[in-house]
Parts: sequence; structure tokens; C-alpha cells
Amino acid sequence: MDNFTIYTSSPEETMEFAEKLGRLIQAGTVITLEGDLGAGKTHFTKGLAKGLEVKRTVNSPTFTIIKEYKGRLPLYHMDVYRVSDGDEDLGFDEYFYGEGVSVIEWSSLIEEQLPSERLDIQIFHQGDQERRIVLSPIGERYNLLCKELLIK
Ligand code: ADP
Ligand code: MG
Repeated sequence: MDNFTIYTSSPEETMEFAEKLGRLIQAGTVITLEGDLGAGKTHFTKGLAKGLEVKRTVNSPTFTIIKEYKGRLPLYHMDVYRVSDGDEDLGFDEYFYGEGVSVIEWSSLIEEQLPSERLDIQIFHQGDQERRIVLSPIGERYNLLCKELLIK
């Protein structure tokens, strides 16, 4: 499956790109976000939420692992950084296979529990405001989603 790379040069640009993705995605979409602290995972999620017509402000789920937002589809924003045992079943499946959209920051910590079909996104620091965003779709549905996103 192809990988797709885009570059952004401000938080706003990252959010706009994520917003476009948010407008395209359907129920049951699973997106993982990997990248160092400050890479822009939460900003990406903010943009995605806008594309899902979420009205509330999306912030990092600091004290909880999962935050749920109402939008065109429900958004389940997960930050599993504090999950101490990645094999522990915290009921993620109900979200992953539910009617909403799951976005998981630090997803590699629960690798074993992730659905096999999903969109993996990595964000890399390139400079102060520059970021390289790599989309790695797994599964035909996600491959088509990326193609649709990048021709718009
Ligand atoms: P993470 O969730 O990956 O730890 P955040 O989204 O919380 O990262 O923070 C990203 C930080 O980087 C913010 O302070 C944001 O303003 C800054 N930033 C600078 N350039 C960009 C960019 N191109 N895309 C996203 N964030 C950027
Ligand atoms: Mg974050």
C-alpha cells in the first residue's frame, strides 16, 4: 500500500489539512497519531474535529484516556500515553468498532489492540514550524480515503 507525505509550515496548515480529512471520514474510521511531544498530534485532532463539525474545543485528554465529542459523527479522542499496560483491555473495541471516529495518540502503546485496518499517521518535526506528515493507510478503504483526500 502507498504512503502519502505532505508538509505543513504552521499549526493552522496542519489543522486545515486535518479538517479536510475530517470532512471525508465515515463512521468506524480509526486513525492513529504518532510523533514526539509537540509534533502536533493534538493540533491535528483539533482540525479533524472541525471537519467533523464538533463545536466544543478539543484539548489533550490529560486526566482521562478517552474524551468523547459530539459532531457529524461522534469523535473519540484517545491519548493512551498513560496506559501502563498495553495489553490491558480497557474496552477500546467498543470505540474502534462503534459508530464514531477514533483518534489515538501514542497508539503504539496499545499496538496489540488496534484494528488491523486503519489509517496510521506520523508527524515529524522538520523545523520550528515545519512538519512532515506521513499517511500510511492499512486496508483498501483507507487507501481510497487517502487518494480522495490528496486530490481535493
Ligand atoms: P502533540 O499532541 O503531538 O504533543 P500538540 O499539538 O499539543 O503536539 O502541540 C504542537 C505544538 O507545535 C503547538 O505548540 C503548535 O503551535 C506547534 N506547531 C508549530 N508548527 C506546527 C505545525 N506545522 N503543525 C502543528 N503544530 C505546530
Ligand atoms: Mg497531544
